[in-house]
Amino acid sequence: MTITKNRSTADWQAADAKHFLHPFTDFQSLAKKGSRIITKAENIYLTDSDGQRILDAMSGLWCVNVGYGQQALIDAATRQLKELPFYNAFFQTATPPAIELAELLAEVTPPQFRHVFFSGSGSEGNDTVVRMVRRYWDILGQPQRSVIIGRRNGYHGSTMAGASLGGMSAMHAQGGLPIPGIEHIEQPYWAALGGDMSREQFGLAAARWLEEKILALGPDRVAAFIGEPVQGAGGVIIPPASYWPEVQRICDKYGVLVVSDEVICGFGRTGRWFGCETVGSKPDLMTFAKGVTSGYIPLGGVMVGDRVAEVLIERGGEFEHGYTYSGHPVACAVALANIRLIQELKLVERVHDDVGPYLAKAFESLKDHPLIGDAETCGLMGALLLVKDKGDGRPFNQPGGMQAFDESVSIGMVCRGHCFREGLIMRAVGNRMIIAPPLVITRAQIDEMMALIRRCLDLTLADARREGWM
Ligand SMILES: *Cc1c(COP(=O)(O)O)cnc(C)c1O
Repeated sequence: MTITKNRSTADWQAADAKHFLHPFTDFQSLAKKGSRIITKAENIYLTDSDGQRILDAMSGLWCVNVGYGQQALIDAATRQLKELPFYNAFFQTATPPAIELAELLAEVTPPQFRHVFFSGSGSEGNDTVVRMVRRYWDILGQPQRSVIIGRRNGYHGSTMAGASLGGMSAMHAQGGLPIPGIEHIEQPYWAALGGDMSREQFGLAAARWLEEKILALGPDRVAAFIGEPVQGAGGVIIPPASYWPEVQRICDKYGVLVVSDEVICGFGRTGRWFGCETVGSKPDLMTFAKGVTSGYIPLGGVMVGDRVAEVLIERGGEFEHGYTYSGHPVACAVALANIRLIQELKLVERVHDDVGPYLAKAFESLKDHPLIGDAETCGLMGALLLVKDKGDGRPFNQPGGMQAFDESVSIGMVCRGHCFREGLIMRAVGNRMIIAPPLVITRAQIDEMMALIRRCLDLTLADARREGWM
């Protein structure tokens, strides 16, 4: 072992605060509080440096789909590290794991996908999307067709291109974003923006914001539309069923490429292999990462549909783009083991037929709680909307576009604090509490998770009443 075993929590925290700048973190505030140090994990449970057991209802960061401690993935990495720890895919070379993973991805993705471009992460995958989409229209002699439309409160990663495609205003406020040629439309969030419309009416209206934007820009300038099937980091915003088919119809009408960011929704999360199959779109490109290796090792990429692949391959010449770790053999070996395990354990079918519906029912039963204005799930992702007043459904912060999510709303953070203390990882996004547990979670473990969620909601309710927040 190269890592010290017997350091105390305080010692870890001091060293952490002194040297480690964490992602998406207020450095000063974290240094004061001290990090929680996670030391090991098994199945769906984490252990911290104080020995507390924690139920991980977020699958790490939406990625540990097969759960922790899967020997098949560990063996695949170990074997590949011994055999060939690294070789690149530049200059007409390849490695067996990368080739075999490309082959397997072509098999498990929708039929229009037969090619893959590998990256090291989801953000890098979306950088590739921007370059590839613009390259596609260049080759076709339409270089002016370069604008990509994303959505407010969407999340597509944290690189310059990823953060620009995303619609997080707090991210755009730092570092001169978005980069040129990226536009945004409002998100399909019915509870916040639906007004008097029915859910399905609103889905159509939200899709038509895309058509308005395309017409305002001029269809001959619009290269692509990018969206998550279900917005994850934005708060598990599940679009009305009418939304994506209408988006697809509009994109087809104007020849706009459809990009499905499947970094969270891919590999079974929604109860189908990919989120586009659940929501009913037929993308030209799909970004993936996270669940492709269940997070055991970094890997991302872009599935390239036939429409784009044919142009790139037959008419494109050299695509001046690539990463040192595109097709990293160890990452690809782990991804192969991970996908085969998902197939063996029939995790996608389990989410669709068994634990997904079971979770939906459990969430439904939370609607009687005084804090809960809405409870929704899609496969094994779920969101609870916290409201001040069930009568008028008034949420804790009045949602209105992006702003609602960027304010640091205390209620979610209060609830998250209780979760931490009670041994549950649940994430707070403004007034929404969200989960995305590992796909291997059992019904009994869902019961255990729901008991913890209910206890944390009760504790939060007691705080809210005592403090006069509601
Ligand atoms: C996490 C995420 C990304 C970014 O992936 P990284 O591996 O963190 O770069 C992109 N898109 C979506 C939908 C994500 O959830």
